[in-house]
Amino acid sequence: MKKILLIAALLIQQIGFAQKITAIKCGQILDTKTGQLKPNQVIIVKDNIIQQIVAANSFNQKADTIIDLSNYTVLPGLIDCHTHVLLQGDITSEDYDVQVLKESIPYRAIRAINSCKQALMNGFTTIRDLGTEGAGYADVDLKKAINKNIIPGPRMLVSTLAINTTGHYPLKASDYAWELNLPKGLQEITGADEARRAVRQQIERGADWIKIYADRGYRRLADGSYRSLPNFTPEEIAAVGDETIRSGKKLAAHAVARDGVIASINAGASSIEHGFGMDDECLKLMAEKKVYWCPTIYVNDYVAEGRAKLGSPIHQYFTQSEPELFKKALKAGVPIAYGTDIGGYDWNEPQAKDFEFMIQYGMSNLQAIQTATVNAADLLGLSDKIGELKQGAFADIIAIKGDPLNNIKTLGNVQWVMKNGTVYKK
Ligand SMILES: [Zn+2]
Repeated sequence: MKKILLIAALLIQQIGFAQKITAIKCGQILDTKTGQLKPNQVIIVKDNIIQQIVAANSFNQKADTIIDLSNYTVLPGLIDCHTHVLLQGDITSEDYDVQVLKESIPYRAIRAINSCKQALMNGFTTIRDLGTEGAGYADVDLKKAINKNIIPGPRMLVSTLAINTTGHYPLKASDYAWELNLPKGLQEITGADEARRAVRQQIERGADWIKIYADRGYRRLADGSYRSLPNFTPEEIAAVGDETIRSGKKLAAHAVARDGVIASINAGASSIEHGFGMDDECLKLMAEKKVYWCPTIYVNDYVAEGRAKLGSPIHQYFTQSEPELFKKALKAGVPIAYGTDIGGYDWNEPQAKDFEFMIQYGMSNLQAIQTATVNAADLLGLSDKIGELKQGAFADIIAIKGDPLNNIKTLGNVQWVMKNGTVYKK
């Protein structure tokens, strides 16, 4: 009897713990930290983790699967730190309102399944999704469904509802009959206690990050500088920041001009989203405190014309001043992470467009790639797991044709995608 049990135990051990080994033969690997291109490497993946990277001529390990990418350049999966999987593009406020008013949350979640898949097909194996914009906690459900392999999608860090103060976010009562109780694109608070309650409720329901909308009412002054209206009182924003950080979470702040940016930095924000109207003091503070900037360049371009036609030219002004701001931020040493705001523009539009702008505005190809790899991983607190191909990291791997250090457009045409050890695109 003992012998049978022993054999059974051994069998279970062999079956139960048999790990799947995948060997990926790479034409060349880009080291995202150093910019070095290493030719003829083999990545050995054990289940979902990179076990080892070896030179092709010294590769002699047994593998269950061998994948041949010897005609490709191989990189870690890209990271987009600002997405909205539950939005499908909103150039005008009407586009936004229609989604919130006419589409049920289940319907929006169904559409978001496509957005999640699209992100993965674009080579973005991790996203930080910054607010469901009226779709409740559906981002938590999407993340769960992805993690349970029910739908394909990237690793998600979610921020659920986002927080703003009462009366400062769509849907706007002034656009409708005032007696209607309109749905809101986020959670509204008034006062420090409600701010703390909102943070606690969102974390309880699954928020990995807290997102705030720190300012509104952007305007350009005669001297070309920008100002805005701060949404929070100093007490409210301090309460959001304190409650977020005390809970071990991080704060992402939509902030466009100094009125929102400096308040957010003081509240402990880890990233400034958009920041189109930042001044030198904002840049100095961000560099000093290592607050990341997600510049979301293409989305501004995408909405500028449509919004100008409706009488709001501010985004066209931002387009004009963005190249100089970007150069200043680089010079000041502001850490920059890749964030597109896709969803704010159509998911069928390119997600890799910001790379091109970044290079146009003064970054090297490697610096631009680092915004979506090592920098983004640092912002998300996942430097040991994503953003670099190295031992112990998740097997989040993409392949492209050509050399991204010479031609950044290659990142807009990702040919092969593995996430967490599973191939999703080939
Ligand atoms: Zn956004």
